[in-house]
Amino acid sequence: MEFETRAVHIGQAADPGTGATIPPIHLTTTFTQPTPGEPLAGFDYSRSGNPTRSGLEACLASLEGGEACAAFSSGLAACSAVLQSLRPGDGVVASHDLYGGTFRLLDKVFVPWGLEVAFAQGAGVEAYRSAIRSLRHPRLLWIETPTNPLLDVLDIAVLSGLAREHGMLSAVDNTFATPYLQRPLELGADLAVHSTTKYASGHSDVVSGAVIARRSELLVGIRFLQNAMGAVPGPLDCYLVQRGLKTLAVRMDRHCANAQALAESLIGTEGIRRIIYPGLDSHPGHAVAARQMRAFGGMVSLELEGGLASARRLCSRVRVFACAESLGGVESLCSHPATMTHASIPAEIRKARGIGDGIVRLSVGIENAADLIADVRQALGGDSRQEGSHLSATLELAADGADSRL
Ligand SMILES: *Cc1c(COP(=O)(O)O)cnc(C)c1O
Repeated sequence: MEFETRAVHIGQAADPGTGATIPPIHLTTTFTQPTPGEPLAGFDYSRSGNPTRSGLEACLASLEGGEACAAFSSGLAACSAVLQSLRPGDGVVASHDLYGGTFRLLDKVFVPWGLEVAFAQGAGVEAYRSAIRSLRHPRLLWIETPTNPLLDVLDIAVLSGLAREHGMLSAVDNTFATPYLQRPLELGADLAVHSTTKYASGHSDVVSGAVIARRSELLVGIRFLQNAMGAVPGPLDCYLVQRGLKTLAVRMDRHCANAQALAESLIGTEGIRRIIYPGLDSHPGHAVAARQMRAFGGMVSLELEGGLASARRLCSRVRVFACAESLGGVESLCSHPATMTHASIPAEIRKARGIGDGIVRLSVGIENAADLIADVRQALGGDSRQEGSHLSATLELAADGADSRL
């Protein structure tokens, strides 16, 4: 069966007891055992396993083309389980441009725990090769593509090949692309990691994550940690993610079409120094993205001429876009990485990575494209006295509390 069909049906069989076409949400912590030690369907306690979670895991495994999936209570819990499955002393090579929370997890939690971490100083394969050489025991290559917020495109086949050459595992954070646009496991990666909080669930109403493995044995340690550490999603959360997955394909088609239309329509606009979107010919990763992705995604980043002031002005003047963290929901969001999502990265490191104060990240939703284009245009131009004051206040709050909030 094709992707769209599996998204609707895998893990979603009608309830055999009642015929309910939509399987019930199993809001139960425990399972009655007719004979002690012999649970009816393999479930005994919902941290160890729950039918609603199993349905979601089966669906995600199928969509990513993997053999097994473990669902977690957040994307970062999923990342943590992968990193915790290593041993102190092991080496990790990571992308130079990472989700802020993943950077913080490596830097503030897993380096003190004993992992050795080297960041590739660029998007090219040589940068990864030299990062690998700098480690004593390279074990895991960790990449995101497209990256956040600069939307660099990394060649998954080449980098997972490089990892294999060095006897390392490779993990790809596939949150931005989703399995509809890009399937890392089919390109040679060992693990796909998700914040299903984003596009996978798609409605900005649930925090959750998942790890999908190319082969089941790669998930054994991670599944052990899912139960032993206990960062599991509740049944209601699993249901929400599974319901979101059913429309993933149609939503992504619209996200991609809207993002492409917005990026193209802004070319040549006064006040914009750079439009960063993998679907534009001008994007350095366009050719690789065209090869490894079905379409170019729903994220567009803009680098504005006026730096911090212009970025804050845009974020506070938009009316259809909401100024908010996160991405991947049906509604359009804009954010200012330097004071919001990436505020937990020290300023010097942020600057060195090209995340300047003038970068604004747009999560382009599924609204009408012309409305979105008109909104960004009015926010960029016109009279600066009309700034939406409640949104400015939100931004200031975000700037003050970003590190603790993210
Ligand atoms: C949001 C996000 C995460 C973290 O996921 P949570 O669900 O917020 O814990 C990790 N990676 C990427 C690329 C993300 O966008």
